[in-house]
Amino acid sequence: MHVQNSNPFVKPNEKYLHAVYSNSKTVAMTSISMTIGGQPVTLKIPLPTEKVTADTMLPLFQELTNFLVEMSVKSAEKAGKQVSCKKGCGACCSQLVPITELEVSHLKKVVDEMPVAQQTEVHKKFQHAAQQLAAANLLEKLRRPQNLNKDQRIKLGLDYFQLDIPCPFLENQSCSIHPHRPMACREYLVTSPVKNCSTPQLGEIDGIQVPRKVSYAVTQLTKQKRKSQSDWLPLILALEHHPQEPANKQKLQPGIDWLKEILAKLS
Ligand code: SF4
Repeated sequence: MHVQNSNPFVKPNEKYLHAVYSNSKTVAMTSISMTIGGQPVTLKIPLPTEKVTADTMLPLFQELTNFLVEMSVKSAEKAGKQVSCKKGCGACCSQLVPITELEVSHLKKVVDEMPVAQQTEVHKKFQHAAQQLAAANLLEKLRRPQNLNKDQRIKLGLDYFQLDIPCPFLENQSCSIHPHRPMACREYLVTSPVKNCSTPQLGEIDGIQVPRKVSYAVTQLTKQKRKSQSDWLPLILALEHHPQEPANKQKLQPGIDWLKEILAKLS
């Protein structure tokens, strides 16, 4: 992705380009103009021209997330705030992380491609977490969050945090899958003191406000398909979830149409 005009802080991401090229036979650079936070921006994005599934577009959605978060960080810095999140701080990685169906499939692939020893360790951590959640009577609630109202979901998040279950991908207080981390993780940055992240129930967390969340837009995209099922899935149950539709039945459309759908949901 390349951004023209007034946003020199966003640079093309080689890994992203690589991911798109590896999944698509034909890719064309496409310019998209939009206004974000009152600021006009033009994104130059490589997009697959052939019909692809939404999974193929995940690198774009991740990159769009990074871009919007970077814009939000710049705005916060202009207002005199400073992001306090640092490498080696995983205080927020015991929170309940909502992920999209696309990310479930992606994370499964990431785990499948890990060296065997690491893969075994990660599977063990997921299993141990499920046992802890079952013992605390939270497992079934997490499997069916669509049965909960807003207050119950908030309580679920707080109860979950109380269990202090580190994300299975957290190693030495750092994210072991950083380039693949969910969009919700990318969108979570704070400017308040790091110690406040250990007590989120006190409401002393000052988060970076991302005006348009790609994670939410992608959730809306997959929610349409899932109908009666929940609009989000917890990261901690990612490996036990099975995609609703086989790959050969998934919607196919050119990259530009996926981008238009996401931008429509973002606005
Ligand atoms: S995926 Fe990475 S950033 Fe997200 S909660 Fe897990 S360890 Fe933290």
